[in-house]
Amino acid sequence: MSAERRGLLIILSSPSGAGKSTLAKRLMQWDETLSFSVSATTRAQRPGEQNGIDYHFTAEDDFKSMVSNGEMLEHALVFGNYYGSPARPVRKAIEAGEDVLFDVDWQGAQQIANSALRDHVLSVFILPPSITELRRRLETRGQDSAEVIEKRMRQSWDEISHWDGYDYVLVNDDLDTSFERLKTIVSAERLHRRQQPGLLDVVRGLQAEFEEIET
Ligand code: ADP
Ligand code: 5GP
Repeated sequence: MSAERRGLLIILSSPSGAGKSTLAKRLMQWDETLSFSVSATTRAQRPGEQNGIDYHFTAEDDFKSMVSNGEMLEHALVFGNYYGSPARPVRKAIEAGEDVLFDVDWQGAQQIANSALRDHVLSVFILPPSITELRRRLETRGQDSAEVIEKRMRQSWDEISHWDGYDYVLVNDDLDTSFERLKTIVSAERLHRRQQPGLLDVVRGLQAEFEEIET
């Protein structure tokens, strides 16, 4: 008999270009029951990005009213743009026992880790193997202008410096190895005692059976 499971809030953070979106996409393909927390952002849409799938591209006024109406689980200013995770879809998924994946910066990770859902947070930080490789990845991704890449490179240390606030840290050198490790982390965390509220009934059943045999 398998015990009922609580949903996990799986947070991936990294300096821009280290590979968290790539790992997030692989994780979603690996387990289709995982839902991705689609953030709202005031930044411009990149070529190839889909509104409502990659982000909810939002005007600054609308973003600010979502924050003041308490609709965001967390929000932060990153690279001069606002980003935030709408709370409602997260609560719905967690209550249904489904995991939610977040691609948020360290400020968002900290806010979620301090929220009422803190007991169900699994946070993973992705480090690049080197700063030279981080720049190479940002350049080969080919989605940002030279100016934006410089800005992201300058800010990468600020993000990296928060590595020790996370439950797990992966150095994303070989992508396949990192993905295997990420699956191991998620699989183990799903089996954590506090993620399985139904265990109490399982143990009660075992106890009743035990007492029946004994008498
Ligand atoms: P982030 O979401 O952290 O900004 P991305 O997932 O967009 O980063 O990755 C940045 C670029 O690096 C992409 O072109 C991606 O294909 C590539 N990439 C990601 N992980 C690796 C890896 N382990 N080795 C080589 N290239 C990688
Ligand atoms: P990008 O513009 O490259 O998609 O994301 C830039 C940074 O913003 C990344 O570090 C990403 O993790 C972070 N980010 C994306 N969505 C959110 C969000 O909802 N909240 C917070 N705090 N950060 C976010």
